Amino acid sequence: MIDLHLHTTASDGRATPEMLVAELVSAGITVCAVTDHDTTASIATVTALAQPHGIRVISGIEITAVADDEDVHTLGYGFDPSHPGLVSFLETQRADRRRRLEEMRARLEAIGLSVDLEAEIAAHSRGGGKALGRPLLAAALVRAGHVATMSEAFERFLGRGRPGFIARQGATPGEVVALVHAAGGIASLAHPIKLKRDAMIEPLAAGGLDAIEVFHPDHDFNAVLHYRQRAERLGLLMTGGSDFHGRDSGRVNAMGKVTVPADVFARLAERLAL
Ligand code: AMP
Ligand code: ZN
Ligand code: FE
Ligand code: FE
Repeated sequence: MIDLHLHTTASDGRATPEMLVAELVSAGITVCAVTDHDTTASIATVTALAQPHGIRVISGIEITAVADDEDVHTLGYGFDPSHPGLVSFLETQRADRRRRLEEMRARLEAIGLSVDLEAEIAAHSRGGGKALGRPLLAAALVRAGHVATMSEAFERFLGRGRPGFIARQGATPGEVVALVHAAGGIASLAHPIKLKRDAMIEPLAAGGLDAIEVFHPDHDFNAVLHYRQRAERLGLLMTGGSDFHGRDSGRVNAMGKVTVPADVFARLAERLAL
């Protein structure tokens, strides 16, 4: 079974590389890609841990691009993780994530909500290359007693349009596609149902996008059909996976349930010359 969308503690996943590999083994996954947000920090460890189990790991990433003020999650596969242009781009992405969180923290403080963001970052980030995100600020708000739950933190303060929210700035999806190509990989538009911008797909395909993520836990039967037809019409490849964030992440655990059909993967493997 093939799963090309997985997260670890290098970004906002709850599973360490060790925990992830244990899950992959018990779910019967044989080919996978770790696609952390804006970091490749877990790929080498997962690859080494998975190998004795006969699990093949393809390099992966989920890069946050920005278009019309919206986050556009763009997946990359089969690239060289040590490509200098990619490495420095991802370093900038992670520095921008940190700066944005600091600016959001200052906004919260200005409305009387002090939180210890640095303590939260220290508690969550062991080792380098971690991609920080709003969930850390949500956890800091909970820890300070300003809200009861992380979702309350998003609903009241951190979601779009809320007092602590600051829009992200960053590369366009087209720039991200070009960067993934430069690093030798292919790019896929992640979970288009979440994006709700189907009109974006055709211009992106014309600009070099290679694939659409068709198989995803947020895609029901009709959505899979819809995006499969889109891909076929535009001559795009298809990708997919469980978007696993860990057992205790509060998300559905679709590992072993949302997978990439073997014939679909064969076309990807052909393009990547795997
Ligand atoms: P960021 O990348 O810093 O903008 O943070 C985005 C992350 O915040 C997402 O990947 C989710 O994990 C989390 N998130 C976004 N909205 C919510 C919400 N309403 N409730 C809980 N978590 C959320
Ligand atoms: Zn995530
Ligand atoms: Fe995503
Ligand atoms: Fe994801």
